[in-house]
Amino acid sequence: MAVKSPERPNPEESSVVQEIDWTDFRDHIATADQEGRRKWIFARQPKGRYYRWRTAFSLLLLAIMFAGPFIRIDGNPLLLVNIVERRFAFFGRIFWPQDGIVFAVGMLLFLMGIVVFTAAFGRLWCGWACPQTVLMEMVFRRIEYWIEGDAPAQRALAGSPWTPLKIFKKTLKHAVFLALSFLVANTLLAYIIGSDALIQIVTDSPLNHLKGLTFMVLFTLLFYGIFARFREQACTFICPYGRFQSTLIDENTIVVGYDFKRGEKRERLHRDESVEARAAKGQGDCVDCRQCVAVCPTGIDIRDGLQMECVHCTACMDACDAVMDKIQRPRGLIRYASLEGIEKRQPLRVTPRIIGYSIVLMVLGLGMLTLLLTRSDVDVTMLRARGTLYQELPDNRVSNLYLLKLTNKSNREMGIDLRLEEPAGELTVAGGRLHLAAGKQVQSSVVVELDRSALEGRKTPLTVVLYAGDVKVGTVRPEFLGPRQSGSGK
Ligand code: SF4
Ligand code: SF4
Repeated sequence: MAVKSPERPNPEESSVVQEIDWTDFRDHIATADQEGRRKWIFARQPKGRYYRWRTAFSLLLLAIMFAGPFIRIDGNPLLLVNIVERRFAFFGRIFWPQDGIVFAVGMLLFLMGIVVFTAAFGRLWCGWACPQTVLMEMVFRRIEYWIEGDAPAQRALAGSPWTPLKIFKKTLKHAVFLALSFLVANTLLAYIIGSDALIQIVTDSPLNHLKGLTFMVLFTLLFYGIFARFREQACTFICPYGRFQSTLIDENTIVVGYDFKRGEKRERLHRDESVEARAAKGQGDCVDCRQCVAVCPTGIDIRDGLQMECVHCTACMDACDAVMDKIQRPRGLIRYASLEGIEKRQPLRVTPRIIGYSIVLMVLGLGMLTLLLTRSDVDVTMLRARGTLYQELPDNRVSNLYLLKLTNKSNREMGIDLRLEEPAGELTVAGGRLHLAAGKQVQSSVVVELDRSALEGRKTPLTVVLYAGDVKVGTVRPEFLGPRQSGSGK
């Protein structure tokens, strides 16, 4: 970890070190025992304001996620990642492999955005918006609470013999998990092949769509495996963002942090013990109730400091706030804070650094938006035909032959006309109007004739504009080659 955890107290200066095990949490993960066997996490259901806010936000995200493939903008999907046909849609704009530059710049902006966002706001994404967390914590785990009860009941059920009730509960839970995994798999498939193709697979004879159905089954089993069994390990072992975020955050990053200055020395609360009496004994606000550990879906103890497994889900913040309410101490012993702020006992502030990073993020976002919105629907190149120079014609005219290549990057067919806007002259496209199918490329020959008086020298810039009906869809500026003008020196 690049970020330091709470400093270990000096044994010479403090008695705390004798009572807290600061040593071994980094040597093993919370979800495996000494032999490396999986330790199942029975996380208590969080209750509190953050859980309520996350629930509301998750409902919004889930609605967008499941409706996404069916939402159309200008007849195009909101989001489509059709790797098979190499067709992509983003906010209703269709992208093709020819948009390589948009992809390259977009990817660069996206990666820079991740770096800046993580440096400023830590793993806010993981806790609030990552589909894995949203589906795991707000859908699958809630169903588990609903069928099997809260963590103690789940633990008891897991350890009990196979009674008819246990068989019923486990069967029901896994049947619902499988059905939900099927739904999630279908949604993912709709983002890949498009909702129309998915509906066709579902409604048509299965024999006509064996490939699609195979992927449907594989995705279903994959999601079932992740949400029923693999769970938090996806974040710990698989997710690359979780692993490299430790190199992006520093002591000023906003994290879910335990205020060890205020919490230590931790000590259980004894009956009728007053806050003043605890303070007099050098005890902090942490009453060592371990409620923060009980709710943690990754099984860690946030009091050990910032850890890779922490997905910043805020469950421990809610749990600890409830404890603080009960013992009448201020909320926020575990809170959103920077490690620097905790160290210096400062509240979380909007620092110039956060403002700066937010501005950079906004600029990156605007850059991305500009890139998407200013991208033309038609890609055009018009180059002089290889091996040709110019042809001198009667009536003091000169002609050039060009090779024209057009790519239709939109999702609709287009009829394209070319007009020579500057200088005055004549432009002829072989075959007349060009018909461009969606996503297709056409080539044609173009002849441009200019009067000698229009030539600016050996090379004259042309302005050729492309129209689809009355709509201007592109401009190209090729050079026109002419004879050297006598006496001009050009
Ligand atoms: S919930 Fe709060 S008081 Fe209880 S152990 Fe965790 S940090 Fe300490
Ligand atoms: S330590 Fe707290 S914020 Fe981190 S994963 Fe556990 S409960 Fe969530």
